[in-house]
Amino acid sequence: MSNIPSFSNTEVAFKAKSSGELKFTSLIFKMMGSPGLVNSLTGLTTFALKIHLPIQWIIKKTIFKQFCGGEKIQECSSTYESLRKNNIEAILDYSVEGQSKEADFDKVRDELLQLVSNAKKHAKVPTTCMKVTGIASFSILEKVSANTELKEIEKQEYNRVIQRLEAICAKAFENGVKIYIDAEETWIQVAIDRLAEVMMQKYNGKEAIVYTTLQMYRHDRLNYLQVLIEKAINHNFFLGVKIVRGAYLEKENERANQKGYNTPMQPSKLSTDNDYNAALKLIMNNIQKVELCAGTHNEESAKLLCELMQEKGLDNSYKGIFFSQLYGMSDNISFNLAHAGYNVSKYLPYGPVRDTLPYLIRRARENTSIAGQMGRELTLITSELLRRKNQPTKK
Ligand SMILES: Cc1cc2nc3c(=O)[nH]c(=O)nc-3n(C[C@H](O)[C@H](O)[C@H](O)COP(=O)(O)OP(=O)(O)OC[C@H]3O[C@@H](n4cnc5c(N)ncnc54)[C@H](O)[C@@H]3O)c2cc1C
Repeated sequence: MSNIPSFSNTEVAFKAKSSGELKFTSLIFKMMGSPGLVNSLTGLTTFALKIHLPIQWIIKKTIFKQFCGGEKIQECSSTYESLRKNNIEAILDYSVEGQSKEADFDKVRDELLQLVSNAKKHAKVPTTCMKVTGIASFSILEKVSANTELKEIEKQEYNRVIQRLEAICAKAFENGVKIYIDAEETWIQVAIDRLAEVMMQKYNGKEAIVYTTLQMYRHDRLNYLQVLIEKAINHNFFLGVKIVRGAYLEKENERANQKGYNTPMQPSKLSTDNDYNAALKLIMNNIQKVELCAGTHNEESAKLLCELMQEKGLDNSYKGIFFSQLYGMSDNISFNLAHAGYNVSKYLPYGPVRDTLPYLIRRARENTSIAGQMGRELTLITSELLRRKNQPTKK
């Protein structure tokens, strides 16, 4: 076991990036630093794509390049290899969401089945991830979540959703590939939670294959975590859980406001942080029954998890715990943790440029705050470029 890594070691953090690549990243983060610019570009881009203006190449060369691996699985291989060389697993994320046709859902299912095979072939700890909205319509998930009685035709539609998910999880189980089921908007999450629980009970008897996701910006998720742990103990399965803060804060608050119900969101950032860290502690106290993926770019939370592992006497490479960041963000956390021997992965999204737009917009918004991610990325890149300038022999 080694000490808690420093996340400010920029030499380790950026060793996979040339100075040219760092300057490119810096430019992208600077552009995202202005909320006004992000909002107008988001509106313009969405409109331009709607009227079929040929702007996809601009997106592909800029924000897509920063946050995505490519349009097809094969295009991601160089990024994938570069991460693996640095002991970081890439979790290919087919970033197509919000589909509406049955044929499209089947296509996403087939792509996910291919991802399972791909992960098995290439990864040390093969893992994949999915969004239920890739294989199900938003409206059916919303109805199931609200306990609305389904018409016969809707029952059939929902059965097809279950069959698609079942096919993906069964293949993951047969191939020993972990599958993270992402969390989405609260008004469809009840259905997603139920589906994930059924799959965990079925496939997690010997180890966690299926993982559910908890968004700690919700004020009810710490209780739900406790419930899940009790279920895992009582029904004798391993709880696989990815803990994140959550990506739909504004949308959630806006909807609650518009519809006049109490927001399911925490009252403040501090309460989200407190619950995130409390979830890590609760999991560590039940680690014999839980496998964890901590999906975060928050240095304090990552440090806390390292400390908790030390307290419990777990090796840095303990196989039931993964740290995970999104590709294009927080290399200082990913690379320094991997360098210290922790298990680290990065979500590596891919898909047609047009379909990745909702994902890219979420990333742009997340990185807008000067006090948050964007400011830290820029400071680190600047200091690494300076360090390299003063040591001209190094890359
Ligand atoms: C591997 C991985 C998988 C992911 N999977 C999912 C997923 O399945 N579902 C999903 O929704 N997101 C997912 N995300 C995205 C994730 O939710 C965001 O990246 C995350 O919220 C950013 O927070 P942070 O932990 O990096 O920390 P920070 O940057 O410290 O926190 C920012 C977050 O805090 C919360 N927050 C900010 N202000 C407030 C406020 N006023 N009140 C309450 N809360 C506030 C918000 O969630 C915000 O995003 C994933 C991220 C990673 C790295």
